[in-house]
Amino acid sequence: MTSWQSVLKKSITTAGELAHHLDVPEEEITRVAGVYPMRINPYYMALIRRHGAPLLRQAVPDIRELHDPDGMTDPLAEEDLSPVPNLVHKYPDRALLLVCSECAMYCRFCTRKRKVGTPGMAISRQGVRAGLDYLRRTPQIREVLLSGGDPLLLTDQRLDELLAELRAIPSIEVIRIGSRVPCTLPMRVTRELADMLARHHPLYINTHFNHPAELTAEAAEACGRLADAGIPLACQTVLLRGVNDDAEVLRRLMRGLLAMRVRPYYLFQADLTRGTAHFRTTIDRGLAIMRQLIGHLSGMAVPTYALDAPGGGGKIPLTPDYVTGLGEELRFTTYRDIPCAYPNRLPEDLRAGRDG
Ligand SMILES: *Cc1c(COP(=O)(O)O)cnc(C)c1O
Ligand code: SF4
Repeated sequence: MTSWQSVLKKSITTAGELAHHLDVPEEEITRVAGVYPMRINPYYMALIRRHGAPLLRQAVPDIRELHDPDGMTDPLAEEDLSPVPNLVHKYPDRALLLVCSECAMYCRFCTRKRKVGTPGMAISRQGVRAGLDYLRRTPQIREVLLSGGDPLLLTDQRLDELLAELRAIPSIEVIRIGSRVPCTLPMRVTRELADMLARHHPLYINTHFNHPAELTAEAAEACGRLADAGIPLACQTVLLRGVNDDAEVLRRLMRGLLAMRVRPYYLFQADLTRGTAHFRTTIDRGLAIMRQLIGHLSGMAVPTYALDAPGGGGKIPLTPDYVTGLGEELRFTTYRDIPCAYPNRLPEDLRAGRDG
């Protein structure tokens, strides 16, 4: 067993074990974890003890998970959009392939809470093979996103085989891996892993950090190894009430990510997933926060605030409105809230067709 595997094996999965570390309502946690599994590995547990609520809320079960009657089990209609199990084909040119049912930590706000980490998501080699067959016979798919669960919990060997099989499909140009491992189990990102991944370029990794306290020296080292292997890194953060719904917290997170060579990509509005209502913010709040990011920090550090449409309609960007009027001139406010204008017509000579 490699060292990251032994760290993972020491994860807390029951309320009784958790009570040794934190003062928690054991009986409630047992009930919630019986429905939605808990896994808190020693690395993330140490971060929780040091930083408290914003990290604790992401990992420790909350009784409110069981009281969310309006929530949807599959808000993005992924099961309806799956031509074969564990492959979601929503956009014309890209597909999502779920290759691992486990994660290094079970996030309480997970969109795939209905199945991630449960026996309902067992993924067999045969299942993955059906996904690969679909990709072979659907050449309009140019990009494959590996997700789960967390693909980086597969062994190096299994992942290498899988990537080789994908690379053997001529229509697939780009491989993208979605993984929270650089944040929740950074020791998994070994030099061997980075070297192996580099043999399957063009390969991108989108990771997932939600709070600046997650930007540890270990996480920076993990991201540095991947970046050194030529893998472009981006981050998909989820906007979470009581965790990061604050402009100053997000500014620190986004700046810190950029300094770790990770480019902020999406800031997701929380999905309507059952059991996650207590994490949701209003869209107004998200837009107000974006106003406090845009222009106030490097454009490279500003993610796109996006909503994944319920029912599988895809992601749409949510952008604060700077436009106050559009007629003979565009009227708008600057990022500092100062009124400004720009002409919405061509210069005289161009209008008269005298420009040659
Ligand atoms: C999010 C998602 C993608 C990728 O969308 P991008 O906007 O390209 O990041 C692809 N397929 C599915 C099913 C998705 O949910
Ligand atoms: S790492 Fe991703 S897939 Fe796994 S529980 Fe967290 S949000 Fe869900």
